[in-house]
This record gives sequence, C-alpha cells and structure tokens, in this order.
Amino acid sequence: MRIGGHITSTLEFPSHMSIVVFTAGCNLMCPYCHNPELIDMNGGEDIPLEKLYKIIHDSSDFIDAVVITGGEPLLQINDTKKLFDYCHECNLKTKLDTNGCYPKKLEEIIELVDYIALDVKAPFNKYKEVIGDDVGDLVKKSMELGFESDSFLECRTTYVPSLMNPADIEKIAKEINCDLYTLQQFRNRTVLDVKLQNTPNTTRNELFDIANKIKPFLEKIKIKTGEFGDEIIK
Ligand code: SF4
Repeated sequence: MRIGGHITSTLEFPSHMSIVVFTAGCNLMCPYCHNPELIDMNGGEDIPLEKLYKIIHDSSDFIDAVVITGGEPLLQINDTKKLFDYCHECNLKTKLDTNGCYPKKLEEIIELVDYIALDVKAPFNKYKEVIGDDVGDLVKKSMELGFESDSFLECRTTYVPSLMNPADIEKIAKEINCDLYTLQQFRNRTVLDVKLQNTPNTTRNELFDIANKIKPFLEKIKIKTGEFGDEIIK
C-alpha cells in the first residue's frame, strides 16, 4: 500500500483510540487541501500490507479502531479492502475518509466500514466552481449509498469564506442525508493554492451562526475548530 504515514489518534474516530493510515494519491486538487503532500500518487512510500498488519497487531492492546484516510483511499481499493478485512479479523472498528468520487468502489467495501466520513465540499451542482472538478453527482451517489448502508455516515464541509457563502451551506444541508453533519474551520496555514493564504481562518462564531441557521434541516450538527475542538450544536 502506498502511504504517506500513520499515527495513533483519539480524534479521528470519535470515542475510539485508532491507528490512522494516510494513503498517498488523490484525484482532486482542492485549493484548500491541507495535506497537499498526499495528492501525488508517487509521494509517500510503499509499505507491504504485512507490515501494516503487524503495526495494527502490535497496537491491538491499546487501540480499538483503524482509520484509513488520504489522499483518497479508494484509489487503492484492493489494499484498503484487505486492510479492513484484517481489522474485522482483529475485532477492530473501521472508518473510511473519502472524497466521494468513487461510489462504485465504495459500494464494494461498504459492508466492511463501520464509519464513513464523506466530504461534501459544495452544493452538488457547485463543485466545479468551488474546487474546480465537476464531481458533485458522484459525491451525491456516495452519500446515498452511505446513508442507505448500516455504516454511520458523517458528511463534512470545510467552510472557506472566499469560495462559498452561508447560503451554500444551507443548500448542502437541504440536499444531504446523514447521521452527522460537520462544519469544519478553514485554516490558511497549509493550503494547495497559495492565494488562499490571504483568506482569514474561519472563526468559531461564523461556523456557530451558520450551524444554527441550518439546524431545522439536519438532525445532528457539529462544528470543528482548532481553538475549541468538536462542539455539538444543540
Ligand atoms: S482536500 Fe482531500 S480530496 Fe481534496 S485534494 Fe486534498 S486530499 Fe484530495
């Protein structure tokens, strides 16, 4: 498997201690990408799956979950599937972070995934304008698959003020079905498009105001900021 690294985290899978594997390679070039070093498929290093199995096995006394994130993990669906198969053999929970561009691949492994975190980067018909790729229909399909499955589905949007406005978030809120919707803070320190370094970080209050406006459309909403962490909107 080609990966950019792995860490242990209490944050990536809520209420679980997890090993997080960062796969290398992504099909998108989101201007606000905060992991731009993971976009190149030739970045990172090739790690034999057996080595990852051993890392997971050796950690199994203190982890109860494995998260595969990217980049875009579904670009390496065979290895992602094998890794999740191994997690199930070890009775570990599994979480997949995906940009939603590969609904068919998602369908192939969805039974192995306990928690799907799906990026909804814009209203489905505004993807081209916001991130430069017209993939909204594919993401919508992934969202529908995730919601119909037994997996927990989190949809999440990074709110970048220079690329979108509160009405876009309201549109997203009306378009999606999920178990949890997360509005994430934009931070300008590490971004793919350097022009975005001039866009101020989203504040907690901005996210809080938008989250309150979309409350009527969604059951559970969370905002996520560097300063205050995860906050459920009541
Ligand atoms: S933000 Fe995610 S989907 Fe977008 S380019 Fe970066 S890794 Fe890919």
